[in-house]
Amino acid sequence: MNPEDFRQYGHQLIDLIADYRQSVAERPVMAQVEPGYLKAALPSEAPQQGEPFEAILADVDKLLMPGLSHWQHPNFYGYFPSNGTLSSVLGDFLSTGLGVLGLSWQSSPALSELEETTLDWLRQLLGLSAQWSGVIQDTASTSTLVALICARERATDYALVRGGLQAQAKPLVVYVSAHAHSSVDKAALLAGFGRQNIRLIPTDERFAMRPEALQAAIEQDLAAGNQPCAVVATTGTTATTALDPLAAIGAITQAHKLWLHVDSAMAGSAMILPECRWMWDGIELADSVVVNAHKWLGVAFDCSIYYVRDPQHLIRVMSTNPSYLQSAVDGQVKNLRDWGIPLGRRFRALKLWFMLRSEGVEALQQRLRRDLDNARWLAEQIEAAPHWQLLAPVQLQTLCIRHCPPGLEGEALDAHTRAWADRLNGSGDAYVTPATLEGRWMVRVSVGALPTERAHVEQLWARLQTIVNG
Ligand SMILES: *Cc1c(COP(=O)(O)O)cnc(C)c1O
Repeated sequence: MNPEDFRQYGHQLIDLIADYRQSVAERPVMAQVEPGYLKAALPSEAPQQGEPFEAILADVDKLLMPGLSHWQHPNFYGYFPSNGTLSSVLGDFLSTGLGVLGLSWQSSPALSELEETTLDWLRQLLGLSAQWSGVIQDTASTSTLVALICARERATDYALVRGGLQAQAKPLVVYVSAHAHSSVDKAALLAGFGRQNIRLIPTDERFAMRPEALQAAIEQDLAAGNQPCAVVATTGTTATTALDPLAAIGAITQAHKLWLHVDSAMAGSAMILPECRWMWDGIELADSVVVNAHKWLGVAFDCSIYYVRDPQHLIRVMSTNPSYLQSAVDGQVKNLRDWGIPLGRRFRALKLWFMLRSEGVEALQQRLRRDLDNARWLAEQIEAAPHWQLLAPVQLQTLCIRHCPPGLEGEALDAHTRAWADRLNGSGDAYVTPATLEGRWMVRVSVGALPTERAHVEQLWARLQTIVNG
């Protein structure tokens, strides 16, 4: 494809995206296809000769669209709000179109410096002190893996330059709440801690980590000759958006010199609202924190922001310095390859920069407040309605709900819950996520897709009340 063809088809593609966003509400929210539908419709080998671009775009419409669940649909209440703003879509497009790569500062100076600047803007918006420095990672899973590797290396005085974990006399232990995201468990396993050395700390009635249980677990490990290493606390857990008490946890990690990583992948976006900052009171006691700007904040995936207090430590753990990547200015600049696992780096700051400049902070704040209000409104309806239950405090935009007709309990209630959630999702009218909470099925309603207004939430509530009756 030459630049003139690109111009022509690029315009068509932008039109396709704009039309899609304008008309997405007419589509069923959840994909209504069977497994294997697309593989059966596609040729089993790549074409030998190039095809007209019109044919490719036609297949996007005919073959791919039916196989999408529409995250930007106003009736999307699944998982979490994500990925939405069109200003950031353009930034992502530009990043790809420019085709530059950040291997070092010199390989694209603007790439590194825009990342530094936008992340410092965002740091201020989140209310973090000037002691934090940020870098963009792909996902929270990676950010948390990096955090736990850094914790491991601090606790072992850089065992990686010696025998690594394999030469440690005492097992290193990681503490997480029983409601932490599965990526935390995965990160601890991949960082080499081992299943036996991951402690699941019990939670309270609001599903938040119990600091006294954390303290007790640490003491037990010390008595057993283990080496406590890191605590991962969550601001906004996945199931219920529970808030682990960071100030109390931070006092414990400071006393025992443990690494504190805060997973605020989802709820971090809310910290642009000063009225929500109490939720991570104590954040300044942490060593690292992750905020997925590609979730509720709305940046196009992927844009997971990892902030650390001690960048020198991060660089010491992550840096490599082969001769072909060295340059005369290395002493004066940030080489972001030394701030994480990958060497190559997309120009991801562009989409954050485009979004922040084009929307402005006030509009972002207004949208998040709209979603919080809508979630609170729905919570009030559910609380007031007979046979409906809210299973967790609604602190952000996620509701955990259950419909409990008289006489239904246990397995029968589970079957009822799963059946109505499936009916709702299968109808294409709305998309919610069934999940378990303390061993029983419930339905998560996550409010905050970009086009979701109060009228849509009212429609959802009306639909919920009928769908539960079959
Ligand atoms: C979404 C989420 C994750 C995982 O995010 P990825 O970026 O997809 O790895 C981790 N923790 C929490 C609390 C989340 O909400």
